[in-house]
Amino acid sequence: MGKKQFKAESKRLLDLMINSIYTNKEIFLREIISNASDAIDKLCYISLTDDKVGLERSDYRIRITVDKDARTITVSDNGIGMSQDEAEKNLGVIAKSGSYNFKNDMSAEEAEKDDISIIGQFGVGFYSAFMVSDKVTVITKKYGEEKGVKWESTGADGYTVTECDKFKPGTDVIMHIKEDTDEEIYGSYLEIWKLKALVKKYSDYVRWPIVMDITHQEQQPTGEEDKDGKPIMHTVNVTAPETVNSMVPIWQRAKTEVTDDECVEWYKETNRDQTDPAAVLRINAEGVVSYKALLFIPGKDIDNGISGATKKGVKLYCNGVLIMEDCDKLLHDYFEFTRGVVDSPDLSLNISREILQHNRQLKVIGQNLEKKIKAELEKMMRDDRPKYETFWKNFGIHIKCGVCDEYGRFTDFLKDLLIFYTSEDSMRSLKEYVDAMPESQKAIYYASADTVKHAMALPQCEEVRSRGYEILYLDHPIDETVLQQLRMYEGKGFVNILTEDLGFQTDEEKKAAEEKVVENKELLDFIRDSIGDEKLKQVTLSSKLVSSACCLTSTGGFTLEMEKYFRNGPSEEMRKLRADRVLELNGKHAACLAIKKAYDDGDKDKAAALSKILYAQSELIAGVEIEDPTAYADLVCSLF
Ligand code: ADP
Repeated sequence: MGKKQFKAESKRLLDLMINSIYTNKEIFLREIISNASDAIDKLCYISLTDDKVGLERSDYRIRITVDKDARTITVSDNGIGMSQDEAEKNLGVIAKSGSYNFKNDMSAEEAEKDDISIIGQFGVGFYSAFMVSDKVTVITKKYGEEKGVKWESTGADGYTVTECDKFKPGTDVIMHIKEDTDEEIYGSYLEIWKLKALVKKYSDYVRWPIVMDITHQEQQPTGEEDKDGKPIMHTVNVTAPETVNSMVPIWQRAKTEVTDDECVEWYKETNRDQTDPAAVLRINAEGVVSYKALLFIPGKDIDNGISGATKKGVKLYCNGVLIMEDCDKLLHDYFEFTRGVVDSPDLSLNISREILQHNRQLKVIGQNLEKKIKAELEKMMRDDRPKYETFWKNFGIHIKCGVCDEYGRFTDFLKDLLIFYTSEDSMRSLKEYVDAMPESQKAIYYASADTVKHAMALPQCEEVRSRGYEILYLDHPIDETVLQQLRMYEGKGFVNILTEDLGFQTDEEKKAAEEKVVENKELLDFIRDSIGDEKLKQVTLSSKLVSSACCLTSTGGFTLEMEKYFRNGPSEEMRKLRADRVLELNGKHAACLAIKKAYDDGDKDKAAALSKILYAQSELIAGVEIEDPTAYADLVCSLF
């Protein structure tokens, strides 16, 4: 019988497969196993109404055998098989069932450049066998037919179909593995351990047993005895068929069958994480898109690359067959710490990363899961605050970045997950903060520093606290941006107590304060000039200070916090950036009165020295570097 030609588009894809650019060659086994599993599903279904099938559910299996000398891997199933017509139709036309849209104007070379993206658009399926084989033989017999069929192809040049004898229905796919090349050791696929690992990795949860002959070493008696009459043992290799997949995925089992603790153990094992997850989510959704999901919020940050943990993202399965190991597009980055599995029969087996973003089902699943994750986190925040705070330490940064990402697209969704310190050991959500606000409080106050302790010690906080108002103490450079992105929360604006008008003063008080500044202008100018820092733009009297003598604030868009942030910046230029400073003095404080007295008494040297000390102190309190610490120390000592 002469060679038949593949349909034009199949030939094109075969070219690609054979000269393969597709890096992930090992998925061929998954594809072939998945076809075998489907074929068994079909026969099993027929057997429900047809006694003649003569197979019990427990009789179905997929068998993988290897012949190293002949360099073949055979995947056999006792499923429905194919008739000659079907073999030609199914194996001669690429991706019949896949959603495929071949780009006619694309040459093989062009396609090659496009690599995975193009292959991913087709149902790779059966053809993936050609990534590792130079010849594929399919021996199949359709249930109910007399004769078997032998389909054989060495690749793009076509295939032959002939009748053959086969005793039982089912299919053997015999892959003749390519010779090794410099780039690829194809022979490694002939190793039992390798195949077993591939089954575990990609097809562990296929519903039917995948059986391989596995060789174990066993201690057996030799038949001889030692001088004490004990049997002498020796090690022998025993080869026996073994089911290498676990078949029923944990996420497919009902809550009554599998406890949360078992899920936790499974998480730890599969993610190589010794820490209990902070939350376990078990979801069984039926609706527009059906899916089961078993998700975990890790108890510690396992993305840091040190622990050797699994890749980011959620594993994607379609009916127990792994289709993507690290689906990082299912959830937005703000929830990227989530681990686990999503299994949906509505997904296509051959989904690729590239088309993933546009996949409608996945979008629906992603949205639903995000709602569930958010609800779970809100529950944790409500019911187990210490746990939530640990979660926040581990992953809060993802949520904060999410608030700022994409021009605030997710701000609304995420804002109620934010928590901030309101004292060294307690954190509040914005809702809790606003709910606890006294009636007189008009805004949400915040202060930032490098640590909560430093922020709390800022003199500007005093007055706010003395009114019974809470302050959000920000200790991360992104925090200010988060609040700027939020702009308001429940109609309340955010006020930076370091740089903004707190709005506490009446118009009269403001006027009186301004007059005071005018009155003391000469002295204030003297203080500024004697400090002699070109970045000190203004010295003024403050109404924010209660018991502190002074504080340092900034004017203009570049704040002291930004200055601190840039101090570790990558370029010398960045590290040198300094904010324009304003020194605010508490006119009633003894230190300020001492300067005034020295000045009024004509002791300008003393007034200048005291001014410099006060300025250096304000810098220290604000957590910025003082220019010349030695000069400061000398100055203090000169007063003794
Ligand atoms: P897909 O599985 O996406 O349909 P494939 O290229 O993997 O694409 O397979 C094409 C078709 O060939 C399958 O739909 C099925 O009808 C048939 N087929 C492949 N392998 C087997 C098998 N082991 N037993 C029966 N039919 C098979």
